Amino acid sequence: MDFGPLNISQTTNTASSDFGRIIFHSPSGVLRPDSPRDISLLLSFLSASAFSQLTVAARGAGHSIHGQAQALDGIVIMMDSLPPTIEIHRRRNGEAGFSYADVNGGVLWVELLEESLKVGLAPRSWTDYLYLSIGGTLSNGGISGQAFKYGPQISNVLQLDVITGKGELVTCSPTRSSELFYAVLGGLGQFGIITSARILLQDAPHKVRWLRAFYEDFDIFTRDQELLISMPDKVDYVEGFMVLNEKSLHGSSIAFPSYMDSIPQLPKGSSKVYYCIEFAVHVYQAKDSFIEQVVEEILRQMSYMPSRIYSVEVSYFDFLNRVRMEEMELRRRDVWDVPHPWLNMFVPKSGIREFRVLLMEHISPEDFEGPVLIYPLLREKWSTNTSAVLPEVGAASTVGGGDDEVVYIVGVLRSTPSNCPPACLHELLRRHHHIAEAAIGGQVGAKQYLPHHQTARQWREHFGRRWERFAAWKARFDPLNILAPGQGILLLHS
Ligand code: FAD
Repeated sequence: MDFGPLNISQTTNTASSDFGRIIFHSPSGVLRPDSPRDISLLLSFLSASAFSQLTVAARGAGHSIHGQAQALDGIVIMMDSLPPTIEIHRRRNGEAGFSYADVNGGVLWVELLEESLKVGLAPRSWTDYLYLSIGGTLSNGGISGQAFKYGPQISNVLQLDVITGKGELVTCSPTRSSELFYAVLGGLGQFGIITSARILLQDAPHKVRWLRAFYEDFDIFTRDQELLISMPDKVDYVEGFMVLNEKSLHGSSIAFPSYMDSIPQLPKGSSKVYYCIEFAVHVYQAKDSFIEQVVEEILRQMSYMPSRIYSVEVSYFDFLNRVRMEEMELRRRDVWDVPHPWLNMFVPKSGIREFRVLLMEHISPEDFEGPVLIYPLLREKWSTNTSAVLPEVGAASTVGGGDDEVVYIVGVLRSTPSNCPPACLHELLRRHHHIAEAAIGGQVGAKQYLPHHQTARQWREHFGRRWERFAAWKARFDPLNILAPGQGILLLHS
């Protein structure tokens, strides 16, 4: 096919793979746009030639798990080839509104952080890992330990430039072309390609007091997490993880000492599972004695294992960039570029105990490689106008159900061992699929985050009562079903 002035390359290796290393779909070509106009030209051309049936996927940093940024026999747009524009606007004294950054959709969050810190500002809401693109995380949600306070990244966007599946370039916001704005946020790349986003900024802290507390009781662990998120005036970040084996702590952060040697209750080879809450308090002054009081006040209310509390103070950049340190370590051990059969679930508070039991029935703590993250979010921080999906209110049918305001994110972030052949990978995927199905369909009432479903029925169930709206948006903004085929949202109009 002749694309006129557009330079479509046949070198497709990068575009045929992703972080998951499970799906390898080759496109027929790759576009490296010089400007949003190139993207608009491509999509206008394809939507005008209705018989071409070529699909198109934007590829940000390619950190999907199941081929979501791939396009089998289609065209992949490498968003990192757009000029890396980052324009910071600092709100002046007396000026209404917020400080913000206008960034192109292919920019990485770490690049935005570096640039905004130069003027003492930073985005409010993060992902744990910063080498992800702005457009890629806004197509999903973008969550980390700040989400309980500020909502996901999609709750911290003021405006977007989007090129729809018809090739139209639209600037949209909550007050301008608002349907497209909300459709695209959490929209799994289905409605348009984000070429620019206006991200809310705030004053960046000087440093971060970063604490870890250990638990042997799951109920006390979650109770303390919920206590922490009820104190947004004091606490700036809350996460947590399961300590399944000695590997759960080794390398889990270089900022902390190697706990297995220093904590007698967590002996090597023990089959007992522990839990760790990680939380942080921002420090705004170089010497901030007030922080000591705040931390003490928080700790007084918590019920962690006696004396199992650890604290460090690090720069804001190092705190936010902590997973990069782990990446370097895993790369050094040659275990970064391995298959990652990850599973991420949103679990209502009322189903979190059942989910833990289900999880433990399907993983073997002794040989589990990678973190299992568990931390609470607040539903009120998520706009119901966006495409992002949380468990439906009242979804969990367990005893004690009814408190749906708190929703847990559970990330089973497994790396496969180096001696895991394809059959072993398939077995891990089968187990995760089973956990997901049981948690969605049973008493737990969960939903997948970064969803991966294989049938039209599952997608309908995923969106629940929002399905009709999602399908209507698709028909309106990408009527020929060109965009993001790797999400596998099948038979959308059936
Ligand atoms: P890609 O994989 O490149 O794309 C993902 C989807 O978005 C595809 O469908 C693609 O077509 C579409 N897309 C990409 N760019 C655009 C665009 N500009 N416009 C429209 N659609 C677009 N997520 C969290 O929420 N919190 C975390 O803490 C977190 N940590 C992670 C850590 C690691 C190591 C990894 C691998 C992933 C993590 N994720 C996390 C998941 C991550 O947010 C998603 O996988 C996200 O999609 C990755 O961004 P990306 O730029 O790599 O997207």
